[in-house]
Order: sequence, then C-alpha cells, then structure tokens
Amino acid sequence: MYQIIDGKKISQEIKDELKEKVAGLKEQGKNVALAVIQVGNDPASSVYVNNKKKACAYIGIESLAYELPEETTEQELVELVEKLNADDKVNGILVQLPLPKHINEETIIQTISPKKDVDGFHMQSVGALCVGAKGYVSCTPLGIIELLKRSGIEIAGKHCVVIGRSNIVGKPMALLLLRENGTVTVCHSRTQDLKEITGQADILVVAIGKPKFVDETYVKEGAVVIDVGIHRNEQNKLCGDVDFDRVAPHTSAITPVPGGVGPMTIAMLMNNCVSSVE
Ligand code: NAP
Repeated sequence: MYQIIDGKKISQEIKDELKEKVAGLKEQGKNVALAVIQVGNDPASSVYVNNKKKACAYIGIESLAYELPEETTEQELVELVEKLNADDKVNGILVQLPLPKHINEETIIQTISPKKDVDGFHMQSVGALCVGAKGYVSCTPLGIIELLKRSGIEIAGKHCVVIGRSNIVGKPMALLLLRENGTVTVCHSRTQDLKEITGQADILVVAIGKPKFVDETYVKEGAVVIDVGIHRNEQNKLCGDVDFDRVAPHTSAITPVPGGVGPMTIAMLMNNCVSSVE
C-alpha cells in the first residue's frame, strides 16, 4: 500500500508553526511585512495573489498590496521595487509573474534586493544555493524537500531523478536534492531514453508541464513520486504531470494534485518572509 503525501496537512502544520514564530517576533517588537506587486489583472495571477494575502493574514504577516494597471511601464515598476528595497518596514518583495509582455521579467527580478528576494529568483540567491551559502531558495522545490522530510522519506544516498530544468523548479530542485546528499540526475526535452533513466529513480520529481505525461512505465516499483505539475483537464478538474491512478499503486509514496506540492509553495513563501526577519 502506498503513502499519499498530504501537502495540505503538512503546509497547515508549517503555517501554524510560523504563526507562533510571528507572534513571538511581535512580542519583541518585530513586524513581518511582505509587499505583493501585481501588474494587470490576469485572473490566474489574481487567485495566486489572493491566496498569498490570505496566508499572510492567517500567520500575522502584514501584506502590502500594490495592484498596478496593465499599462505600467518597466521604468515605473523598477522605481517601485527600488522604493520598497529602501523601505526598512518591508521585509520581502514579491512580484507576481507573468508580467505583461512589455516588461522584462529578468530586469525586475534582478532589481529586487537579494535581502528581500523571498521568491529566491535573484541571481545572487541562485548562486548562494549553488555554493551552499545562505540565501533565499525558490519556494516550490524548497517545499518538496520539506514534504519529503516531514513524511519520513530519506534523501541521502538515494537516486533522485528530476524531469525538468526550469530556473524556478527543475534546477533549484536538483541543487537542493544534492545538498541533501541525494545522487541526482536531471532530465529534459533532449534527454534520450527518458524511461530508462526515470526507471532507476528512488525519488522521481516530475516538473515537465505536460498533463499526465508520466505513467507507470516511467516508474520503478516502490519509488517515491513527486508531481509538481498543475493543469486543468477537459472536465475543468485539476491534474498533474503524473497519471496518478496508474502510477500510485506502483509507488511507496506519491503526492496528489491538488493537495500535494501546490499548498507547500505558499507555505514556504511565508517561511521565507519570516526568516527574513529572524
Ligand atoms: P517549464 O519551464 O515549462 O519547464 C518544463 C521542463 O520540462 C523543461 O526543462 C523541459 O525541457 C522539460 N520537458 C518538456 N518536455 C519534455 C519531455 N518530453 N521529456 C523530458 N523533459 C521535458 O515548467 P516549470 O515552470 O518548471 O513548471 C513545470 C510544471 O510545474 C508546470 O505544470 C507548472 O504549472 C507546475 N508548477 C507548479 C508549481 C506549484 O506550486 N505546484 C510551481 C511552479 C510550477 P527543456 O528545458 O529542454 O525545454
């Protein structure tokens, strides 16, 4: 029988721990504040931004909302980020992606001070992760490490295979698994014999961005499978990059979609905000 890794429950535990920490910080006169910037009103982004605000309210983090019109120029956004960088009352800055096409995302990400880069996307944060120095780490992969640890799954010495090499998921995931002493293989669209490689994984992390791509023929019997993907199927129901019904019986543990990796991303964002003050 396989274990379903319950991201909803684990993320709730983390949020409750953070709530206590924030209360403790308040007693010491320290406030935690996150600036959340949204440009335009893309409906999916609005849902994410609202969820982040709700999580802040639950934990006791002050959220400062900046809802800017679609026509905002890159220069105006740079100036706002610079103003927030200089504001001692702001601990973390989050710019909701994607940005409108006329704004260069990389320019904005690199404008955020690494000290307030709670998303962990700044080059300095990524570099720190690479060399094992202190710095913010991208929330989704950080949440996956937390899921594995809190589910009692050992990473050290295990063969961990990551499908996907994006800057926000695949690459930092590989670095974090390496930091935890896993033996790591990264696969991507040019990988040959993908099944041959994934079939050797003790821990398989799938961040490929294709609904139900991974079926049981990709998975070793008894492996741990982490599904990062989020999609809506024809019935408008959420599904992942893994075909859960076909894969789960062959695993020892697996994350569902929804209720697996997704809730951990926001919990780790909150964690990064609190650690910015600690
Ligand atoms: P992405 O930037 O599109 O990257 C997808 C990766 O998969 C790329 O590295 C690509 O290789 C690789 N790939 C594509 N087709 C492949 C194939 N046939 N065989 C092997 N590798 C293949 O996606 P992402 O931003 O990393 O996100 C991945 C998924 O996670 C998406 O479904 C996204 O919605 C979801 N996501 C979820 C959360 C969460 O909080 N749960 C957070 C972020 C993302 P190349 O590099 O060669 O193109």
